[in-house]
Amino acid sequence: MGISRLISRRTEQSSGKKKLNIQTAHDMNIKTIEFVRPVKLSTSPQRWNVKEIKALFELPFADLMFQAQQVHRDHFDPNAVQLSTLLSIKTGGCSEDCGYCPQSAFHSSGVENRKMLEVNEVVKAAMVAQQNGADRFCMGAAWREPSDEDMANVVEMVKAVRGLGMETCATLGMLNDTQAEQLRAAGLDYYNHNLDTSPEFYGDIISTRDYQDRLDTLERVRNAGMNVCSGGIVGMGENLTERAGLIAQLANLDPYPESVPINNLVKVEGTPLANAEDIDPLDFVRTIAVARITMPSARVRLSAGRQQMSDAIQALCFLAGANSIFYGEQLLTTGNPDAERDRALLDKLGMYPFAEKH
Ligand code: SF4
Repeated sequence: MGISRLISRRTEQSSGKKKLNIQTAHDMNIKTIEFVRPVKLSTSPQRWNVKEIKALFELPFADLMFQAQQVHRDHFDPNAVQLSTLLSIKTGGCSEDCGYCPQSAFHSSGVENRKMLEVNEVVKAAMVAQQNGADRFCMGAAWREPSDEDMANVVEMVKAVRGLGMETCATLGMLNDTQAEQLRAAGLDYYNHNLDTSPEFYGDIISTRDYQDRLDTLERVRNAGMNVCSGGIVGMGENLTERAGLIAQLANLDPYPESVPINNLVKVEGTPLANAEDIDPLDFVRTIAVARITMPSARVRLSAGRQQMSDAIQALCFLAGANSIFYGEQLLTTGNPDAERDRALLDKLGMYPFAEKH
């Protein structure tokens, strides 16, 4: 009767480890699959070269998925998904020229510029997200870098959201050392700054800042003691070597990021990448699997592009090791599946929000 025969699940906890007992209708045997809770900080990475990562991408699909599932189960409850909600606290008019981004002042995407939200508006949105089951609240602003005045407001927002008992994340552009310290002192848990793509392909996508600027900001975040959230976007026209190059950059950060968003390009009219060729959905799944294998204890986040994905592809992404999603109807300025669809999908797959079980 195939493998879709899971009828009951019992969990027990002992000394930080958790055992998942799976009983099947087929043989009524109890099979125990062990996993450990995610470690707080990533361990020092195994160094990966691009060739090795490319070889993972080129594995037969079933072999890649099997390997990714094994790594996933060694580090996480395979059926738990962390839910984050993302709010744009300042929209549009960004002075960077990222080719995929509708918020860049260089592109005519029709996104309406909005000034920074008030602290109380942000807190209200965070409370709604929390009521809907999100445990992490991410605040995004379309800036090249925040000004001192911006920072004062963001610090208040972080403190207020932290006060609700939620994990906090911010993505505000490049940071200097002082700003990183300010955010840490305010209680910011994660700072997001994506590498976007490989160093070799980067110049085809962005010209207003270079790759080293991004690495420098990540180092400042790390030195300030915050968790790093950094990933990239696939489907921008990169070749396989360049896609592997992105994963190599992330996996070889020391330590690698605690949170790794993998985005599927959302093509927005008016941006230079509006007509980019679609990536094969199975190649997107492969990217998730390779991220999981090379960054075993990171939360791999299935990020932008989910609205365009079928339930089946999302299910494969979870099988490949994705264990975090953005939850809520809007991702900065592009759409996201609504919360009900996500709940229905998780139910259908027998999955649950991480915060509900841990
Ligand atoms: S991705 Fe960020 S930095 Fe780049 S244009 Fe958009 S808002 Fe600005």
